[in-house]
Amino acid sequence: MKYQVDEKGFFGRFGGAYVPEILYKCVHDLQDAYRPIIESDDFKQSFHQLLRDYVGRPSPLYYARRMSERYGCRLYLKREDLNHTGAHKINNTIGQILMAKKMGKTRIIAETGAGQHGVATATVCALMDMQCEVFMGKTDVERQHTNVERMRMLGATVHPVTTGNMTLSDACSEAIRDWCCHPRDTYYLVGSTMGPHPYPDIVAKMQSVISEEIKWQLQEKVGRDYPDCLIACVGGGSNAAGTIYHYIDDERVRIVLAEAGGHGVDTDHTAATIHCGTEGIIHGARSLVMQTGDGQIQEAFTISAGLDYPGIGPMHADLAEHGREEVIAINDDEAIYAGYELTRMEGIIPAIESAHALAALRKLTFAPDDVVVLTVSGRGDKDVQTYLSHKDMAKEYGNF
Ligand SMILES: *Cc1c(COP(=O)(O)O)cnc(C)c1O
Repeated sequence: MKYQVDEKGFFGRFGGAYVPEILYKCVHDLQDAYRPIIESDDFKQSFHQLLRDYVGRPSPLYYARRMSERYGCRLYLKREDLNHTGAHKINNTIGQILMAKKMGKTRIIAETGAGQHGVATATVCALMDMQCEVFMGKTDVERQHTNVERMRMLGATVHPVTTGNMTLSDACSEAIRDWCCHPRDTYYLVGSTMGPHPYPDIVAKMQSVISEEIKWQLQEKVGRDYPDCLIACVGGGSNAAGTIYHYIDDERVRIVLAEAGGHGVDTDHTAATIHCGTEGIIHGARSLVMQTGDGQIQEAFTISAGLDYPGIGPMHADLAEHGREEVIAINDDEAIYAGYELTRMEGIIPAIESAHALAALRKLTFAPDDVVVLTVSGRGDKDVQTYLSHKDMAKEYGNF
């Protein structure tokens, strides 16, 4: 593959590793260790065995007949919602816990927003018998209580974070602070394609199993191994990175990403970082950031807790800037509508994050033969209350 992170961890202008001095050594150790580990036969064998027998991979590539008719294309859904723990996040946590073990670490820390990454991390820590500490904004602890209970049942300690807005961004800062205090025994298990180099590259490589499978599944189903268009939602960017990974250099494939517009990109209530962000440094990487004129991070706003991040993975900042990715902002009401639409037309309740990707279908035009692959990043069980209480929002698009 031609498109790669450079030696210093940059994707064009974006990326790098901007960390406090005390973390230099552990970040460098990880930079040196990750490729040899990922490329070793031992790792590959354990990773793929767990993906198959524990996560339930390959995830199906499902031909959505009714939705295809409605949108005038051949629409295939990549069903990450069917994975163990209900989303794509588990692919990454399985890979990184194996890496932490190889590096001799005994204590795992993680940040979480909606709690999906926290649950996926607590799950693999139980599996591998590792100590697990999860940092989560106090606001999110209250909003996402079931996931907090799941983490506790799995044996993790959940630390409510009371600094800043008490959401994901503050949880990341607190995890980095903890890492500074325990650099030797602790592995920071980052949940998306963000953070200092090498994390964006590690997480993209762990999630690349998604496009690896899409290739052979398309070959079987449509007789060629590439689609005309790929669609995914983007928060930090991990399910999107996995979906596009093996197609980035393939110009035949159009790439469309959906970010969370919240109330709209022209309001103060948005999480559309690629549309509204400016260049800055966030959680150890140079990227696009929602920030005030004097560089204070601005709170992100969206109905979707999993897309609620004021930054974006550096790889996507670069690919979007060069026009390789088309990025569409999807507002809350459009996502709610799209969530109901998939539920009623195909019997699949998608995560509200994934509903942002589905809402992009209405904004695109296709030729009838076009093969479109859309990643359903997670299942919507956690969002049923949100869908029900915001049903009226979707009225102007149609009735359910
Ligand atoms: C966390 C999450 C996302 C957003 O994270 P990415 O790293 O951008 O993929 C999207 N969908 C679901 C279901 C999630 O849990």
